[in-house]
Amino acid sequence: MQAIRAAVRDAVKLCRRVQEHYLIANTKSAGDHKEPVTIADYGSQAIICRALMTHFPDDGVVSEESGEQFLQLLSAEQRSQVLALLEDVLGSALSEADLVNWLEHGKGKTTERSWVIDPIDGTKGFIALRHYAIACGTLVDGQVAGGIVAAPGYADGQGALFYTENGATWRAPIAAGDGERVRVSARRDADEFIAVQSFERAHASKSRMGRARQLAGLGDARILELDSMEKYALVACGDADLYMRLPREGSAYRHKIWDHVAGAALVQGAGGMVTDLDGSPLDFSQGETLPNAGMIVSNGQHHERVVAAVGRVMAD
Ligand code: AMP
Ligand code: MG
Repeated sequence: MQAIRAAVRDAVKLCRRVQEHYLIANTKSAGDHKEPVTIADYGSQAIICRALMTHFPDDGVVSEESGEQFLQLLSAEQRSQVLALLEDVLGSALSEADLVNWLEHGKGKTTERSWVIDPIDGTKGFIALRHYAIACGTLVDGQVAGGIVAAPGYADGQGALFYTENGATWRAPIAAGDGERVRVSARRDADEFIAVQSFERAHASKSRMGRARQLAGLGDARILELDSMEKYALVACGDADLYMRLPREGSAYRHKIWDHVAGAALVQGAGGMVTDLDGSPLDFSQGETLPNAGMIVSNGQHHERVVAAVGRVMAD
């Protein structure tokens, strides 16, 4: 696991370099809609999958980006930029074929343990120089078993690496070093409660989440808006107490497992709760998407009350 954490840290280095020197967004098709993608998404996934290929070669992988898309979507110049960045970060020469091989590693393979990778979660935040995360989660028999989440924007850009190990959740410096154990907060008071939610208004209904907080007696909670799975990490380490993701009215969006596995592992290891809108567990056993319409993540203090409030809001 240490080697996979090291790979995630190398991916952070590559992403930071792209932000400093080569930040151009491309547009890819993702099911029925379009999403931005950058050369860093491919570079980050290549680094993590290369480590999985070395250390867990037989395991299946579900990853957001693909080798085919890398070849079709990027210009020759962008592809050579990714290669140069990877050679720089990894310190060894490599070919485009190696890179495509890593991007495709483990795809379509069903194994008892599998890895779920979001090489850049919150790409819109990454492009706008807000928050983003690099995430690698583990499923065993369709159940969340572990997670690593690098959050370069954590603590005003200081960054942190969050991970699970031995049934607990840990927060380490982003560049190197071991972690200290973290736990969810014990906050209960409505006027001290801290709720986090997506920055992008297209990703979740801010009005429904506001009404649910009111109905749950948490109308005075402080609201922090930020991109990416860093929100799960904030709940896990006690910096925040509630993270809701309620669909916008009429939304048919299907949540992707790579946006949730690693984050859910952090919160569970830290003693918090992660459920569907009706309080049941999220179902990670159905392939790339979740059947669940949304998420409620908390320190556990008012979870049932929030579930009941969300039920009323969704029924309206
Ligand atoms: P966040 O910054 O927490 O909103 O999470 C970013 C993730 O939201 C991205 O990785 C996307 O996969 C996902 N996403 C994109 N469009 C939507 C949508 N319409 N509803 C919910 N999530 C979305
Ligand atoms: Mg994502």
